[in-house]
Amino acid sequence: MNHVVELKLKPNFVAEISNGYPLILKEAAEPFDETIEEGTLLKIVRPNHKYIATGYFGKQNKGIGWILTHNIDEEINESFFEGKFDQAFKKRNAFYLDTETTAFRIFNGEGDGIGGLTIDYFDGFYMVSFYSKGIYSFRNTIFTALKKVVDVRGIYEKKRFDTNGQYVDQDDYVEGEVGQFPLIIKENGMNYAVNLNDGAMTGIFLDQRNVRKALRERFSEGKTVLNTFSYTGAFSVAAALGGAYETTSVDLAKRSLPLTIEQFSVNGIDYEQQQIKVMNVFDYFSYAARHELKFDVVVLDPPSFARTKKMTFSTSKDYPKLIGEAIDITAPKGIIIASTNNASFNMKKFKTFIDKAFKEKNLRYKIVEQHQLSEDFVTLENYPEFNYLKVCIIQLLK
Ligand code: SAH
Repeated sequence: MNHVVELKLKPNFVAEISNGYPLILKEAAEPFDETIEEGTLLKIVRPNHKYIATGYFGKQNKGIGWILTHNIDEEINESFFEGKFDQAFKKRNAFYLDTETTAFRIFNGEGDGIGGLTIDYFDGFYMVSFYSKGIYSFRNTIFTALKKVVDVRGIYEKKRFDTNGQYVDQDDYVEGEVGQFPLIIKENGMNYAVNLNDGAMTGIFLDQRNVRKALRERFSEGKTVLNTFSYTGAFSVAAALGGAYETTSVDLAKRSLPLTIEQFSVNGIDYEQQQIKVMNVFDYFSYAARHELKFDVVVLDPPSFARTKKMTFSTSKDYPKLIGEAIDITAPKGIIIASTNNASFNMKKFKTFIDKAFKEKNLRYKIVEQHQLSEDFVTLENYPEFNYLKVCIIQLLK
């Protein structure tokens, strides 16, 4: 077992942690020996040394660790992890039974009781993501416990704890069957090509499942759809399968072209009937405005923060401007699907960005649907701040 060190909370953080807040913020702790090894178990105590909870030391953003249990007698060992995985596994029973969806999240960090750890299922393969050196110190115990709970075809891992939480580049294969990539998974009957051993991203963001479904079922038939920050074109595929007249996918990264062609092709869609542009979204907006192009549906799914040679873009600062640009090229009564995964602001704040953009244009709108993380991304009901995904489907009223 990992070492245990006592960590005293500052008085005004006692109630919060006692009530179940899972993250140990740096500012919540009285000064302690920060040279202790990541993965060290923390006995979290009140100012009078009375036990509150057990956590682990692991640096991740503003946190220095996560709470694991409030039971002083519970040991953090293989059976602890097995118990958590088993609970999580049972919650996803409907996903395992659904033959039309073969990729989903089976373990969602603090939502399933262990912050800093996520596990995604891809047609029998398990992809385990570690968000700190601390949780990575439990790596072997985690793999052993996982194999006790589920039948594993193969395991891949992602180490997401380089400086600033960046992905550590490595061969991500761990054990079991060596995947033949692209692996074709299904999502509500659609096909998606994924690669579990090609850097930080897999080709699909599983948390947008319900948004892809909404786009396909309710907003695509007969429409022209512009998909910005399109990556592998996952939204474009959903739109095309939903009967879109034409999709346009725009992404700056060169890799997005072959990857988008691949996503269309594995669905039997002729990519030559679709537009795929490798370019800066903001240049595309100017191009589209100059040519008076109008789209029935515009999807906005930018990274939280992006820097190019010419500019930086941050969702918390620039989202109103992004929506403004989208409004200019959206057809009357058209739809804007605005999405962000920036955890630093909530849905309420996000809606103020939308409102600001429309007010500036003197235009009216209606939010016809809103989405957050899908059901497999289990979150703590009392702490909505961990439900980072925010999506508003907006209709222009003009
Ligand atoms: N919407 C995608 C995920 C987007 S990931 C999906 O559903 O799968 C963010 C993408 O934005 C990356 O592929 C990145 O290459 C792209 N990107 C970042 N800045 C950009 C810019 N200024 N113009 C175009 N694409 C950009």
